[in-house]
Amino acid sequence: MILVRTVAAVRDVVRSARAEGRRVGLVPTMGAFHRGHVSLMSRAREECGFVVVSLFVNPAQFNEAADLARYPRDEGGDAALAGNAGVDVLFAPDASEVYPAGFATTVEVTGITEPLEGAVRGTAHFRGVATVVAKLFNMVQPDAAYFGQKDAQQALMIRRMAKDLDFPIEVVVCPTVREDDGLAMSSRNALLDADSRRRATALSRALRAVERTVAAGEREAASALASGRAELAAEGIEAEYFAAVSVDTLQPVDRIESETLIALAARLGAARLIDNVIVRPPGATR
Ligand code: AMP
Repeated sequence: MILVRTVAAVRDVVRSARAEGRRVGLVPTMGAFHRGHVSLMSRAREECGFVVVSLFVNPAQFNEAADLARYPRDEGGDAALAGNAGVDVLFAPDASEVYPAGFATTVEVTGITEPLEGAVRGTAHFRGVATVVAKLFNMVQPDAAYFGQKDAQQALMIRRMAKDLDFPIEVVVCPTVREDDGLAMSSRNALLDADSRRRATALSRALRAVERTVAAGEREAASALASGRAELAAEGIEAEYFAAVSVDTLQPVDRIESETLIALAARLGAARLIDNVIVRPPGATR
């Protein structure tokens, strides 16, 4: 695996790979790799002849300076993990390479970015993500790009952006990878102290509870969510949001009659965690 830091260098290696007829896969990340990231790299490795992983902690998508300052960073460890996962190129640009002096352009996806994370973190967050991912798509020019369902709203936004801006890139969304006790893997889990780490398992239990309630025949979103809220309350967790929303529009639904996204965000100690699950009532086709 090679490490490159400039747009010119990444374009160079991608051009050579494409000249050899290889399909190019991109996995955009902010580093501090865990098995969730590795699952994206492995999927890219299976489907592409050349795999680029980008590592850039994007200041533009952080709505709190403190959150950016304490975001976990471990480039050496990340390079080792990516190498073991069979990645060809680790692209780790400096902020000045991504946002040179005079940078003045943003990409904004409207509508689906407004509820959930958009409502809590503000409009700058998804604008920052859309802008940096659009830039990474243009810098690397991959055939396919890999994202995690863990960040469901982000994945939906990227799909929308790729379609709306005619990026000739297949957007692949991969399942959420979890710890044995159900906690969704996240770089932010490193910020949890022992007590918060234990309590954090209530998030996936809450989602499972909704899933079970729906599987047992409940159709009222409020009743289904109440079963999950009890799991959170048992650990003294008050969610920032815990919502049943349309998988396409992310607007709240009153009744769960088709595939529905159950999305959850909560603060535990120093970490803000998000998780989600898609529920489908028995008999529903979609
Ligand atoms: P991040 O470095 O947190 O920005 O994440 C980079 C990519 O990895 C994003 O597409 C995330 O959705 C994805 N990802 C993060 N955590 C997980 C997980 N537990 N399972 C699957 N994908 C994940």
